[in-house]
Formats: sequence, C-alpha cells, structure tokens
Amino acid sequence: MKIAERLGRVERGPCFSFELFPPKSDDGVRQLFETLAELAALSPDFVSVTYGAGGTTRERTIELVTRVKRETGIEAMAHLACLGHTEEEIRALLDRLAAAGLENLLALRGDPQREGPPPPSDFRHASELVRLVRKSGHAFCVGAACYPEGHIECADRGRDMAHLLAKVDQGVDFLVTQLFFDNAFYFDFVRRARERRVRVPVVPGIMPITNAAQIERFTRLCGATVPMRLVLELERRRDDPEAVLELGVAHAIEQCKDLLARGAPGIHFYTLNRSPAAKRIVSELRKEYPAHEPAAPKLVGRAG
Ligand SMILES: Cc1cc2nc3c(=O)[nH]c(=O)nc-3n(C[C@H](O)[C@H](O)[C@H](O)COP(=O)(O)OP(=O)(O)OC[C@H]3O[C@@H](n4cnc5c(N)ncnc54)[C@H](O)[C@@H]3O)c2cc1C
Repeated sequence: MKIAERLGRVERGPCFSFELFPPKSDDGVRQLFETLAELAALSPDFVSVTYGAGGTTRERTIELVTRVKRETGIEAMAHLACLGHTEEEIRALLDRLAAAGLENLLALRGDPQREGPPPPSDFRHASELVRLVRKSGHAFCVGAACYPEGHIECADRGRDMAHLLAKVDQGVDFLVTQLFFDNAFYFDFVRRARERRVRVPVVPGIMPITNAAQIERFTRLCGATVPMRLVLELERRRDDPEAVLELGVAHAIEQCKDLLARGAPGIHFYTLNRSPAAKRIVSELRKEYPAHEPAAPKLVGRAG
C-alpha cells in the first residue's frame, strides 16, 4: 500500500504510524519484534525504519524494513538519508528496496557528521534525492521531512519554506514533521505551506515525553520548543520517572486529539523502539477513531 493513497482515503479515519530504529544486536531485534507485536494490536497503517546518516545502519535498515513488511503484514517505509552517498550507491539501494517489495520511502538529507572532514557526497539536499528517486524508474511513494519551527540550519523561515516547496516540487507525495509540543507551530506551518502552494498532506510527528533528560537532549538537537507550562510540570516531577511518563502520555493524548479534531491527516509517533507510551496514547485515540482494518494477523498474540 502506498502511504499517500492511504492518506487520501479520509473515510478510513486518521493514519497512525510508528517510527522504529534498527537495533545493533540480534537480541535487540528480538525485543523489537515483541514491541511490534504490542503495537500491531493497535492496527497501525504503517511502520517506518530510520537510516543512520552516512549509511551507518544501511544493512540493518534494509533488513529490518524488509522483515517488517514480509513477516508482520504491517506496511513498512524505509528512511533513506543521502548525505555521504554517491549517486551509484543510492541507485543500488533503491533497486534493493524495490526488489524487496518496499513501496514507500522517506527521502532525507541526514545530518552532517560532527567531527572530521565531511565524506564525499553526490548530494547536498534531500530534494536531490527526491529527484533521483523519481528518475530511477521505480514507482515509490515518497515522503519527506519538514519542520514546523523551521529547520535548525536555516534562520530565515521564508527561505526554509521556499526550500521545502522546491523539494516537494521534485515529486514528494507527503510530509512528516519534526517533533513539536505546541500545536500552534503545526497549524501555523501548515497555513504558511498552503499559502506557498505546498499541497501534499502534512503528517504531524509526535514524541511522547517519557524521560525529562532525554527530551532536553532531543529538543536541544532539533530546536523544538517545550511550552513553559510543560517545562514547569516536568521540573516538578524531575525525580519521579513514573510521574514524568504520566505527564508525557497525558500531554501527547491532548496534543493528538486537538491535531486530529482540527484536520491533521494522522499522527506519526516517534517511539524510540518502546511501546508503553505509544500504546496508551493510540489506545485512547482508537476510542474515537476505530481501526478499519483488522490488526496485523501475523503478529497479534506473539508477544508474551
Ligand atoms: C520525520 C523525520 C524523519 C527523519 N529520519 C531520519 C533518518 O532516518 N536518518 C537521518 O539521518 N536523519 C533523519 N531525520 C533528520 C534529518 O536528516 C535532519 O533533520 C537533516 O538535518 C535535514 O534533513 P532534510 O531531509 O529535511 O534536509 P533538506 O530538505 O535537504 O533540508 C536541510 C537544510 O537545507 C536547507 N536547504 C534545502 N534545500 C536547499 C537549497 N537548495 N539551498 C540551500 N539550502 C537548502 C533547508 O532549508 C534546511 O535548512 C529525520 C527528520 C524527520 C523530520
């Protein structure tokens, strides 16, 4: 199933998806499939698998995304980050993904490595990857990233939006946002994008807060704003991990309900390979937005 087609079928309700990263060990992969079995019960529309910048997880990403698609019955999307790759390498990767039956790709630039000289790269921006995918002859459905609060490297939001439009014009079918905690950023971003003729669906990316220190690290890296009310609430619970989790889940449920009620086409959950928070949030959302498809039959009931 192509994700853009699913997003277009609004009568089927919002599109829910979970993002996973490829574990480093076989044991990690086994645990991840247990997590997937938990998440499968919520009938996600797709699962996506991240790609390490510069190809650091290349084999593990391809293996995991292929297994998810083949073994679980859940639709799968491969992330692909082009920085540090040659055109030939990317063409070979596209051939492998297509041969494995993958239909969906998230086309990304990736982040430059922090130390040492940058490795040679035939790509500077994700738009060049989108162009290559379209030229490759494969009929992938192509997603791309966007940033409601602006990308951290581009201080001028107008210019950042112009770059996004140029990327979408290369043949992007849908967008997934960077994480955010204040829905005002999402709605303002979608309004500005529509004004600039960006017409494709914009799926909000939500990361439930499960750990105060971790969220501080993530927001520092990506520049997302944590609303002051939430900062204060987190501060009060800093030494109580259970209370932080409760707050994070409650905030994400409130955020998702508001996003969906006001027209967001679905929610992409950054799960960090853990199910408890995502499970509680989507279970709550499913009361209002029941699944149209039965849960993936190959996985449900496999986890203990
Ligand atoms: C949903 C989502 C999933 C992600 N998954 C991964 C992953 O699996 N692996 C990974 O490594 N990273 C991932 N990332 C992170 C992403 O790679 C970084 O945020 C990266 O810094 C930018 O990637 P991009 O694809 O948005 O780049 P681009 O669209 O290329 O934009 C990057 C910057 O370049 C600027 N720019 C674009 N075009 C031009 C131009 N023509 N001239 C000048 N400037 C330009 C933009 O304004 C922006 O500041 C993900 C991000 C999101 C939101």
